[in-house]
Amino acid sequence: MMRLVTCERDETFAFPMSRAETTRLFRIAAGLESTVPGETQILGQVRAALEAARAAGTIEPELDILVSEAIACARRVRAEIDPRGVMPSVASTAIAKLDAEFGVAGKRALVIGSGVIASLAARELARRGIARLSIVNRTPERAERLAGELGAARIPFENRYGEIAASDIVVSATASPHTVIERGAFALDHRTAFVDLAVPRDIDPALADDANAFMIDIASLATPEADAERARMNAAAAEMIDAAVSRTLAKLSPSARKRVAIGTRGSALAMAQTEFVRARLAAAYPEIEFAIKVVRTQGDRVQDRPIPEIGGDAPFAAEIERALLSGEIDIAVHSMKDLAAELPEGLVLAKAWTREDPRDALVAREAKSLADLPVGAVVATGSVRRTCFLKLKRPDLEIVPIRGNVDTRLRKLFAPADGERKLDAIVLAVAGLKRLGRENVITEYLDPEWMIPAANQGQLAIELRARDAELKAKIDALGNDFADAVAEAERAFLAETGADCHLPVAAYARIEAGRLKLDAAFGDGARLERVSLGGGDAFSSSRYLAEEAALEIRRRLAGKVTLVGAGPGDPELVTMKGLAAIREADAIVYDRLVAPELLKEAKPGCELVYVGKASHSHTMSQSRINALLAAKALRYARVVRLKGGDPFVFGRGAEEVRYLAAKGVRTEVIPGVTSAIAAPESFGIPLTDRGRSSAFHVFTAHDRTDKLADIDFARLLPDRETYVFLMGLSLLEEIVSRFLAAGKSPRTPVSVIASATTRAARAVHGTLADIACKVRAANFAPPAVIVVGAGRRSSRVDL
Ligand code: SAH
Repeated sequence: MMRLVTCERDETFAFPMSRAETTRLFRIAAGLESTVPGETQILGQVRAALEAARAAGTIEPELDILVSEAIACARRVRAEIDPRGVMPSVASTAIAKLDAEFGVAGKRALVIGSGVIASLAARELARRGIARLSIVNRTPERAERLAGELGAARIPFENRYGEIAASDIVVSATASPHTVIERGAFALDHRTAFVDLAVPRDIDPALADDANAFMIDIASLATPEADAERARMNAAAAEMIDAAVSRTLAKLSPSARKRVAIGTRGSALAMAQTEFVRARLAAAYPEIEFAIKVVRTQGDRVQDRPIPEIGGDAPFAAEIERALLSGEIDIAVHSMKDLAAELPEGLVLAKAWTREDPRDALVAREAKSLADLPVGAVVATGSVRRTCFLKLKRPDLEIVPIRGNVDTRLRKLFAPADGERKLDAIVLAVAGLKRLGRENVITEYLDPEWMIPAANQGQLAIELRARDAELKAKIDALGNDFADAVAEAERAFLAETGADCHLPVAAYARIEAGRLKLDAAFGDGARLERVSLGGGDAFSSSRYLAEEAALEIRRRLAGKVTLVGAGPGDPELVTMKGLAAIREADAIVYDRLVAPELLKEAKPGCELVYVGKASHSHTMSQSRINALLAAKALRYARVVRLKGGDPFVFGRGAEEVRYLAAKGVRTEVIPGVTSAIAAPESFGIPLTDRGRSSAFHVFTAHDRTDKLADIDFARLLPDRETYVFLMGLSLLEEIVSRFLAAGKSPRTPVSVIASATTRAARAVHGTLADIACKVRAANFAPPAVIVVGAGRRSSRVDL
């Protein structure tokens, strides 16, 4: 709500407001509801009321928008109907009327109040030649300031009646809720004017009965001229205001919605978690209605296969995230461990709330503990991580897979159906059992320092759209700094290791004596490596600790990444060493320009990862490719990074090697035949040629912003050297004109060669003067190289 107190009104506005109320607010701001139409003070008063309501935190966001728009609209209205800004104020109109009907010059005046209106009135009086001015106010400082400014005397509030006797004019404009001048408190022995500019009134209206009193109040300012003025302005402004109100209300409707939809999976556990979040939010923000909406995910639909086989980075989260992005829901509640390391663009996590118990629990049918399980006992778990740790502790156990929600798993343990395997125990997360109120079934809480929990186990994640900052602030306010630091450390470790549910990944961070500690483990199928690190300050070291842990694990476990040059297109042009690397690779990460025949050389089971440009999607960012390589290196002994041409010739190979080295991953580079050489050569164009071309240069035509690179064409010598431009087909005309502008001969030979060494290979030969036309006519598509200068063209291959 916002309270607007002016000399004419004391009104409280609160959202929601009807259209009529909204229109009235806009009219008030524009001065159209004022007794003196178009008076300018009202705008400042509305702005002050807005500031005050903001400072007090009482204004609803929607009302804030309404008032701000009303102010903006008022300015436009004013500019439209009073471009010279000469609209009178209430105070100056009243004083003008006083001057006309009573006279001001040479008189003695008393002003009560020292707010904006009183100050204006006092200044107006001074301007019209008042002989003596006194100021009365309850707060001495403001009265002092005004009195000082106008050379007036300052009179204490208690002495006001005495001062009236010594005045001819009394102007009152206080914010007092009570009458300031009572009729019976003094006697008038000479004719005195009383000007009341306050709402509610300051001056007892009964004073009008006194023959010596000449009264002016706001109501008396409503003259026929003022009415005519108002009618003129109303007509002019009504249309503008109506349009502004419509626009504002339309803009407001979505964000004015006081209903927030919380999306979740439909499982009992997910529902319990979501209800927990909903209840806390509802208690904290009773003005908002939080409603739960169930979204069915692929992970829920596919019940009959183990989770790792379903595929996708985050089988449980993806569909909920889609619902978030489409606006179907506003908040998503997940188990944080179900989220992919990288959130979809446009989504963020709110600050983590206090974590539930992160540990794993053993639920046994008869045994009292893990140690108590008989030799060869059958323990069911669906997690590779739990399997690994159990095997380390109890190699004798038989570990079998299990799926289904918590209830299903408990039933499979305690009441197996006919034909179901009889189990001795299962392992479940403590947090889930607690949230479902099933903590009583727990046989043993497993020590998290050996059975390191999954990263973010027991941690809820609240995901929302990045642009909903206000909602995020509300959720963040219920967050917990410690939980957030711990959650970030574990999530960062997961990201560093490439978050893959086929492999055992574990991370358990906590804060001990103000310091962050992280136990983490990672297994590549053959070995399991674990590290235990103690960090510095709990709030600054999360990411660092996660990176250190991953670095240490990579040092022990990571394989080698070999950058292999695939050659320009023809698969036969790969080196023998490169081919050997491809044949041995456990994973190949490849680009767009790589010949498919080379991928056929990969051994069975080799993982092939395409990171090039798909027809309508964007290229994977270099930083994601870097992270992917590091993650694959952790998983596999031999990773090949296969790139077109040579890996270091405009292939960003250098960046990948640098990144991997910093991450503790070994690298090797096997050169390839670059298109810069192969393309001209395959069409018989020598880059060096005794007596004709003594050097060749290879340029990238593009700079980082896809414009022509910064090349000093004046210094190039195309009559003696050869220039090869990669990635330049779309910039051909610009390159040609830059050569010509630099004074190079229009007869300089130029060739453009596309898809060299492949079946689609084509070339066009010409000169700086005609090559652009020829290439346009030939309708070339990338990849292509442009060769400018010296080398002699063989007519045999001319098109
Ligand atoms: N590392 C690569 C170059 C990568 S940049 C190499 O050494 O060849 C990609 C650019 O290479 C393309 O825009 C194109 O200019 C050039 N290119 C790659 N293959 C090509 C081919 N078969 N024919 C012509 N140009 C090719």
